[in-house]
Amino acid sequence: MVAEKYDTLEPELKEELRAIAQQIVEPGKGILAADESTSTIGKRLQSINVENTEENRKAYRQLLFTTAKDAIGQHISGVILFHETLYQKADDGTPFVELLKQRNIIPGIKVDKGIVPLFGTNNECTTQGLDDLQQRCIQYKKDGCHFAKWRCVLKITKDTPSKLAILENANVLARYASICQSARIVPIVEPEILPDGDHDIVRCEQVTEEVLAAVYKALSDHHVYLEGTLLKPNMVTPGQSYSTKATPQQIAAATVTALLRTVPAAVPGITFLSGGQSEEEASVNLDAINKFPAKKPWALTFSYGRALQASVLRAWQGKADQVPAGQQELLKRAKANSDSALGKYAGGVTGAAGDATLFVANHAY
Ligand code: 13P
Repeated sequence: MVAEKYDTLEPELKEELRAIAQQIVEPGKGILAADESTSTIGKRLQSINVENTEENRKAYRQLLFTTAKDAIGQHISGVILFHETLYQKADDGTPFVELLKQRNIIPGIKVDKGIVPLFGTNNECTTQGLDDLQQRCIQYKKDGCHFAKWRCVLKITKDTPSKLAILENANVLARYASICQSARIVPIVEPEILPDGDHDIVRCEQVTEEVLAAVYKALSDHHVYLEGTLLKPNMVTPGQSYSTKATPQQIAAATVTALLRTVPAAVPGITFLSGGQSEEEASVNLDAINKFPAKKPWALTFSYGRALQASVLRAWQGKADQVPAGQQELLKRAKANSDSALGKYAGGVTGAAGDATLFVANHAY
């Protein structure tokens, strides 16, 4: 049987998408995920006794986006924003989007509308937000966003992830990705396998391979232009409550092996989530992944939320006079991860959060 014909994206659109994706994963650069939903940022603020008001959320994001103009853009190429943040302005009236542009940082936007139960499964989930997605993407593009994020969640237990959850989440990610591309937005495809559980690293590798294989089959079926996408996966690690920790070299070997088996070389970059690793673990593991001796056809970098912000929050404490201290922490961590993305991190850069675990059970975003 001859495959049916389908419309492909215009050459100019493909080129635009390819160039955006490429710019995000330039050598030594990665993403700051600052797209915590209102309730999730509330938990972060609560941890430093700051009330979850729009004013405080704005003050915190202003701290992040006003970090040293000449320095932050050397390590951070993109920031993922939450809807509210995209339309906020700094105290002097400068829109946040403008602050990012001044720093040579590409604004991105979280477009999913969160996790919902996938009925007919054992407590598994899917992600909603497709209905008005194209209109929202068109508007976000006009408002300065050039890439998007959509997070799906898969859980490892004795009998999950199920085939149904793997298929449903792969398909919804592919629908999201094709809609983003139609609106000139680069989709970051995020099928996060949660670290919760007492499974070993071999199980995590098997599940990661199965999930990623399904994701790339769905992206192919939906004719998504892979050169204009990025992947945001978990690193392959033992479960959070497994008896022993894996070394960075073991994590690197399992992660790179899983990716090599499933992610096409056409994908320009892989931007890992930090998934509850401490700041230092996330840097050391990314460094080990980049040092791992194998033919790696994609850029391997970071798109960290917790592992870029834990020390910033600790240093800031919601106090105006401690904004510079918070910004110093952000720069320190961004530089460390930038070195890791090049496989040149010497280790030992510690921050205000020390090596505290950032694990959150059944993490919502
Ligand atoms: P963490 O790095 O905190 O896991 O979050 C990244 C993210 O964007 C999850 O969707």
